[in-house]
Amino acid sequence: MINGIKPLERSLRWGMVGGGGTSQIGYIHRSAALRDGTFSLVAGAFDIDAQRGRSFGQSLGVAAERCYPDYATLFREEAARSDGIEAVSIATPNNTHFAICQAALEAGLHVVCEKPLCFTAEEAQTLVELCEKRQKIIGVTYGYSGHQLILQARQMIADGLLGDIRIINMQFSHGFHATAVEQENPSTRWRVDPRFVGPSYVLGDLATHPLFLAETMVPQLKVKRLMCSRQSFVKTRAPLEDNAYVLMEYDNGAVGSMWCSAVNSGSMHGQKIRIVGEKASLEWWDEQPNQMRFEVQGEPVRVLERGMPYLDHAALADDRIGGGHPEGLFEAWSNLYRRFALAMDATDRRDEAFLADFWYPDVHAGAMGVRWVENCVRSADTGAGWVEFR
Ligand code: NAD
Repeated sequence: MINGIKPLERSLRWGMVGGGGTSQIGYIHRSAALRDGTFSLVAGAFDIDAQRGRSFGQSLGVAAERCYPDYATLFREEAARSDGIEAVSIATPNNTHFAICQAALEAGLHVVCEKPLCFTAEEAQTLVELCEKRQKIIGVTYGYSGHQLILQARQMIADGLLGDIRIINMQFSHGFHATAVEQENPSTRWRVDPRFVGPSYVLGDLATHPLFLAETMVPQLKVKRLMCSRQSFVKTRAPLEDNAYVLMEYDNGAVGSMWCSAVNSGSMHGQKIRIVGEKASLEWWDEQPNQMRFEVQGEPVRVLERGMPYLDHAALADDRIGGGHPEGLFEAWSNLYRRFALAMDATDRRDEAFLADFWYPDVHAGAMGVRWVENCVRSADTGAGWVEFR
């Protein structure tokens, strides 16, 4: 892909719900979706404020009559057009995801949804079943999972270079909310309000990212039970946590730990994952995404560099620029959007053979994150004891 050849002959007609001009994440969706020409933005209900959303949509080049006041009108009006949207991205606060996903699937659209997909395992199951019934996909934007070195790790682990996996250490702990910044910042305010985020703050908002990195790298491991302890260091956030520790046991005897925090003073982002096998370990950190440490017991440490020919072809296929040049978040997201487009196209063509072997953060990945948070909250709220994963 380094030469920019488009991976699909067509561009999916695409709309957005949310992600308006004041939002944190809208621009990242657009830059990722539009990067390779696999999507073209033709409609949207971009903002909770209809007028602001219309002006913003027009500023992006979307026709005035296709900038809608709300998602219900967007789906209804677009379904009535012969050139209506085929796919929609949902980048609104968490409490709206389930209803908008459901409405989009019912309207016959493919979906890209922000995490968390929804709030309960029952809701997640409803979406899984609706995807099957409607023959549509949901892609979930666990952004950094699109980074090439994550797929490199997946391949090395599948090839047995680490031996049996024993330990998975995960963390996503930044320091930006070490004080009650929500009093001044509307984008943070809803994140610490259960009416908008359901049962958790950092478990759902942060931890589900490295949880999915681990799932991608070691897809065969399943969580058997877990225990979670959570704290609200900024007291006004209670009962929602701004810090949590989770211990996990996997079905093969491996163990895992997660530290997620928004009060890790001084830390910029702190999303890290270390996979320890019986022979060797891999470690990746999103603040230095182009390097991954490969540590074989008894040998000097190797630092694998993105873009180098010694990597697996799956890791090289997603490069837009050669090794040695800095890249990161935007590229990882663009890789996800390219994969979402390919999955949507293959689903429309009923290409089961392609889909069977094709990886992307799908509706099951979104559902797993929701179930995991539910189990963590259940454990934390019953005195941080072990709970069977269900
Ligand atoms: P934000 O508050 O900054 O922006 C929300 C946007 O949605 C605004 O434009 C708002 O007007 C619009 N909106 C709200 N309700 C709407 C509705 N009913 N219809 C249409 N538009 C509506 O929030 P944000 O930080 O951009 O987060 C949005 C989502 O993205 C959240 O679910 C969050 O968890 C997720 N997020 C994901 C990542 C990631 O790495 N994947 C990073 C940041 C945020």
